[in-house]
Amino acid sequence: MRVANLAGRAVLLTGGGAIDIGKAGGGRLPADPRALFERWEELRSWSTDAEPVPFEEADLEAPAPAPRQVFAIGVNYRDHAEESKIEPGSRPPVFTKFASCLTGQDAVVTLPEGGLTDWEAELVVVIGRYGYAVRAAEAWEHVAGLTVGQDLSERITQLSPPQPPQFSLGKSYPGFGPTGPWLVTPDEFDDPGDLEIACYLNGERVQHARTSQMIFSVPELIEKLSAVTPLLPGDVIFTGTPGGIGGTRTPPRFLAPGERLHSTIEGIGTLRTTFAGA
Ligand code: ZN
Repeated sequence: MRVANLAGRAVLLTGGGAIDIGKAGGGRLPADPRALFERWEELRSWSTDAEPVPFEEADLEAPAPAPRQVFAIGVNYRDHAEESKIEPGSRPPVFTKFASCLTGQDAVVTLPEGGLTDWEAELVVVIGRYGYAVRAAEAWEHVAGLTVGQDLSERITQLSPPQPPQFSLGKSYPGFGPTGPWLVTPDEFDDPGDLEIACYLNGERVQHARTSQMIFSVPELIEKLSAVTPLLPGDVIFTGTPGGIGGTRTPPRFLAPGERLHSTIEGIGTLRTTFAGA
């Protein structure tokens, strides 16, 4: 099942078109994507013979547009740990991206003036079922779906003293959380824990990995996060980026006005983001 947020309406994507969930369900299911995750079990067992209608991808907004919690994971791939000169520990580093930074397909993101903004393609998990102290073996049952994300990061703010640095602020400028283009339910994948992920800057591949290379897998992340705080329907987890970011290159490379990112994940699709000057 592919579910999206089309101009503020919850839609099912099928046969090259979109079916409005609120209308096709006769009001039984929410039309508002913000309310859909509380009713995810019902949606999963729902079927419709409504006709899909064509849509523009540029009208796709963040699939989970109003999470109560956004978790983001640092250094979750060994090559990114190495380029960042950080030794992975027994627990994943966790920060937030404030929810106001979320955006969707074909977003134009303004680069903060005087900043150094970097890319981080990531697998993004959206929660579909309340869970506290979830065991890894049951974790996939709590996942509504997977989507593509960019954990855009302004490195000056992110790494500014005093210690500890300001990860959450540096990664939460407006538009710094592109997600999409849609949500794919875990049952759609042969193995949702092993997906090819890549990021292209102006068409040149800058990141390439498989999500099976994560230090902490999606089930392990859900177990560790939910051991502390309940995971709520509609919550978003950015699961960490592979090696190949701009800031650790020689010389460092950061995003400039007019540049384009394409972030792709096998079995999901391509999230496109472009950048503008302040
Ligand atoms: Zn990240």
